Amino acid sequence: MKLSADSGFKSGFVAIIGQPNVGKSTLLNKMLGQKIAITSPKPQTTRNRILGIHHIDNGQILFLDTPGIHQARGGLNRYMVDLALAAVRDVDVVMLLVEADRDPGDAVRAIIKLLHKLSCPVILVINKIDLVAPESLLRVIDLYRRLFEFAEIVPVSALTGNGVDRLLGLLPSQLPEGPRYYPDEMVTDLPERFIAAEMVREQVMKKTRNEIPYGTAVQVESFTEDPQRKLVIIKAVIHVERDSQKRILVGRQGGMIKQIGAAARRDIEGFLGCRVFLELFVRVDRNWTQSARMLKEFGYD
Ligand code: GDP
Ligand code: MG
Repeated sequence: MKLSADSGFKSGFVAIIGQPNVGKSTLLNKMLGQKIAITSPKPQTTRNRILGIHHIDNGQILFLDTPGIHQARGGLNRYMVDLALAAVRDVDVVMLLVEADRDPGDAVRAIIKLLHKLSCPVILVINKIDLVAPESLLRVIDLYRRLFEFAEIVPVSALTGNGVDRLLGLLPSQLPEGPRYYPDEMVTDLPERFIAAEMVREQVMKKTRNEIPYGTAVQVESFTEDPQRKLVIIKAVIHVERDSQKRILVGRQGGMIKQIGAAARRDIEGFLGCRVFLELFVRVDRNWTQSARMLKEFGYD
């Protein structure tokens, strides 16, 4: 990769941290103006660190959507503290996301305690302001202000976009001068086939609600570009543990899998910017999901 050394060019890493479900992935997508991270009402949808790249005038902001730090629930052992801190050690800015409709609880206080060990600025982003009245927002801001010396406190709604431009506007001043890490058109460094698999997994969770356990794994088996027809052909397998789950996923006369496929295809087309032919298979494989769960327990959340 060629790194240019233009003087005045700013670049740096911004970790988006916070408890499950506070809206980290939604905010990341909103800031990028494009969907790369999947979101869901179920906690801990994000399994991997996502690098989202936001290009600004003479700079780039590299966002990490970090699942690791949520472990800060209740008591923290040494290992977990190290794990959580490792995720944010090398970043230039930490963005702590919290919800406007609730007071700081034990879990977020535990995260804030960890932040004292960092030397980089921490921006508190109070999300979901669409759910609260202005006076209760002011009260919540005040509660947080007493807990930590945040570099900035920014109320936003990741859902409506309210406040998001202001948040983006604050970031460049916190970034160091740095290289152009990625080409201008790149929005993520994740492989396209990974994003495609995530988009299928999101629709499985959305359309089946609680009937399909969270351990579902999606694997893209082939990803073929057909430049002549401006088309990408994707074959993906949804792994489940039991026949009964397969029946639900396939649905009556294949109705469910069709719905999942249609919605995922729209998202993938939006991401890739071309037509997509998406073929989905459901496979019952007890061991596959078990090993996925084991990985999860090891922190590959
Ligand atoms: P994450 O686990 O922190 O990545 O959270 P997600 O981005 O997956 O969001 C969790 C849930 O909160 C989803 O149902 C989102 O639609 C919802 N959500 C996110 N941001 C907002 C917001 O600003 N307002 C409201 N009302 N809901 C939001
Ligand atoms: Mg997420």
